[in-house]
Amino acid sequence: MSCKAVSDASSAAIVLDLVRTIDDNAALLSEVDGAIGDGDHGINMRKGFDRFASIASEKKIVSASEAFQYLGTTLMTEIGGSMGPLYGSFFRAMGKVAQKAGTIDTSAFLAMLKAGAQSVMDIGEARRGDKTMLDTLLPSIDTFEESMRSGADFIDALQAMSVKADESALTTKNMVAKVGRAARLGDRSRGFQDAGATSCSFILQSMAKSITTMLSWDSCTTTEKE
Ligand code: ADP
Ligand code: MG
Repeated sequence: MSCKAVSDASSAAIVLDLVRTIDDNAALLSEVDGAIGDGDHGINMRKGFDRFASIASEKKIVSASEAFQYLGTTLMTEIGGSMGPLYGSFFRAMGKVAQKAGTIDTSAFLAMLKAGAQSVMDIGEARRGDKTMLDTLLPSIDTFEESMRSGADFIDALQAMSVKADESALTTKNMVAKVGRAARLGDRSRGFQDAGATSCSFILQSMAKSITTMLSWDSCTTTEKE
């Protein structure tokens, strides 16, 4: 038994949990970036997420939508590298949709992810197959949507998304980078996993895990129970 939705108003943990996820994986992300990039991806990400953590505790943020928007703004303004503006706009777009929805259920979460992905594509102009974070994000969103349309509940759709995120990050190994720093290597970028695709997988899995915990029957605070 689980809930169908979490209330935006009390779900900042979905975003706060990401700080720990990035901290735990920062060294690995920089190592992955070191193979075909400049080795700063984990450092960049950790700096932005840690800065957001201080802001979140200063401002006592409790809603997911506010947390997503503060995280997005912090990443946009305070971290270097390509990922600041890209992840910044991703989280800001997610936050705006969550704010409008008020309640995060399967379709609201799908709309959040889609808005986030669209803003990454608008800003970075990369497409599927270019060996970027989008090669984790887009297939994972597709899987989430397919699960939802085939009648899976929120938790099962999140689980399917997590599995796909992990697989998709690995498949970037076979791709040739078309954008970003790694594109300068041309064919030599093949054989290495993309750093942004790797962080994106960790981020999606972390959000799925946090939401799943909140949806569990015991900690469920919404009245809508399945
Ligand atoms: P930098 O490349 O400036 O050192 P980071 O190391 O933080 O920045 O991030 C590198 C990651 O950015 C890449 O692994 C790739 O996934 C992602 N990336 C680069 N350019 C784009 C783009 N135009 N659209 C989406 N993602 C991109
Ligand atoms: Mg880099």
